[in-house]
Amino acid sequence: MSVKVCKFGGTSMADANIIRSVKSIVESDPERRFVVVSAPGKRFSGDKKITDLLFACHKELVKSGSCRKSFSAVRSRFTDIAAQLGLNIDLNAVLDATLERIEREKSEQFTASRGEYLCGLVIAEYLGMPFIDAEDVIFFNDNGTLNAEKSYRAVAAACREGRAVVPGFYGVDENGKVRTFSRGGSDISGAVVARAVNASLYENWTDVSGFLACDPHIVDSPAPIEALSYKELRELSYMGANVLHAESIFPVRKANIPIQIKNTFRPDDVGTTIVPTSRYMPSGRIVTGIAGKKSFTVIYIEKSLMNSEIGFVRKVLSLVEAENVSVEHIPTGIDTMSLLIEDGELTELKLGRILEGIKCEVEPDIIRVMENIALIATVGHGMSSSVGTCARLFKAIAEAEISIKLIDMGSSELNIVVGVKNEDYGRCIKSIYNEFFGG
Ligand code: ASP
Repeated sequence: MSVKVCKFGGTSMADANIIRSVKSIVESDPERRFVVVSAPGKRFSGDKKITDLLFACHKELVKSGSCRKSFSAVRSRFTDIAAQLGLNIDLNAVLDATLERIEREKSEQFTASRGEYLCGLVIAEYLGMPFIDAEDVIFFNDNGTLNAEKSYRAVAAACREGRAVVPGFYGVDENGKVRTFSRGGSDISGAVVARAVNASLYENWTDVSGFLACDPHIVDSPAPIEALSYKELRELSYMGANVLHAESIFPVRKANIPIQIKNTFRPDDVGTTIVPTSRYMPSGRIVTGIAGKKSFTVIYIEKSLMNSEIGFVRKVLSLVEAENVSVEHIPTGIDTMSLLIEDGELTELKLGRILEGIKCEVEPDIIRVMENIALIATVGHGMSSSVGTCARLFKAIAEAEISIKLIDMGSSELNIVVGVKNEDYGRCIKSIYNEFFGG
């Protein structure tokens, strides 16, 4: 029988009611044999996620040597859920032991991981499935990256029984210390489990019915995306479409396991299926989706005969590297190059040093800085095979009377990135959307 791994996000774990829906989803398909869970998320706007409550516990612990006060909010969320689900476990004893270990270990990542741990225990009990502690099967290297091969082997061995609940978000490093992925990282845990058990499908259950062609805060009810290739997903999520943690595709992509985004609150909605690029069936649309990010700084450099000056690009990039700043895109022309840097990476001081360095090292004819630039990516496999896509894109932007500050067309022909002023961001996306999806 093929196996599906289902990862449920924080909103799907938020209270007993939605956890009941989770149970009926899991039980409605015998292939759904492995369940990976996040910590309970917000029940309503203004509510606190368990993970955030745990970060507050760590703060209290650092300040006062104990986190008893903050932990009481975590305790009551879990005991309420267990009581409402009618569970027959002594959760208070588990919570006492958890608090004791949090206070002993004094580690922020350990503390943050307890939301998934406790949730995993509760869900395993409720679904009547074995519990596998991620501490025993998910491994990190010392530099904080996933030790993928070791984790696949350990998960596969532990999952031999054929059914299990595994908490997301954490594992252990080479010294046996609990570590977490970055925020939202349970998606990565789910992908690791899917790869390890060689799943036919990785289902990622969340609170939206998959990806939309663009941000619904900008365009009213944008078209849903039913199918997406891994490559398109990578481009869109890198540029801000954040339904899924960007790193979660790597474990499953290598094994050609599709991911399906589904909505726990509307389980009958089709959702979005993310498939290997080789199995991608053209949707008939030229553009699959549009995403973007605001607040970039552009350093524009111009120098005659730049193209024939050996080492020019390397010198410029090493100056940026020396400031420990990462560059997002580097559009180039024959005698020009631009460095696109996210504002969060830069300080006045670093920018000043980079500019001075470039002036000294490569003596450009012109060097200019543009601030408050937004990048907008128009993504789709269909673009490479259709003539006139760029023309339509630029016409749409021109008709909105928006001036394009830069253009970067990836060599894969899958993605065209334009830079516009931050203030034109929403209007620009709307206009591109109307051109390719309107009417
Ligand atoms: N609970 C963690 C967070 O809030 C991880 C996750 O939900 O994936 O970021």
